[in-house]
Amino acid sequence: MTIICPNCSSSRVGVKNYGRSTCGTLGSLAGAHLAMQGIRVGTTVGRFFGPPGMVIGGTAGLIIAGISGAMLGGSTGTQLGSMIDDKILNNYKCLDCKHTFSDSTASKDDEYVYEHSTPSDDDDDFHPLSTSSQ
Ligand SMILES: [Zn+2]
Repeated sequence: MTIICPNCSSSRVGVKNYGRSTCGTLGSLAGAHLAMQGIRVGTTVGRFFGPPGMVIGGTAGLIIAGISGAMLGGSTGTQLGSMIDDKILNNYKCLDCKHTFSDSTASKDDEYVYEHSTPSDDDDDFHPLSTSSQ
């Protein structure tokens, strides 16, 4: 899919992805927060099994909550950010005229009007003067 600048019709268009990187970072931070909660929950659960249980429980909580939290937070943040990039922000910047625009602006060019070809291509089957075949 080629992005064309709606201002000067240049194909030299850059993508900024502000929302994607910002929300991806926020998602990772949220995942890290989940990991900290995982340590706390794991330590609380492990307390029933004594000090070694606290360490094991905390480590298990960190691994489980940290991995799932980082994956969930990061991917969700990236998806949310890309949605914001595509729909809300002016995510594209023309490298020629510095014009910034969003995907919805650029997609107006997708509405092509196809010309109908005239249906007169059946000349091969129509020989009104073909008397030489005998
Ligand atoms: Zn331009």
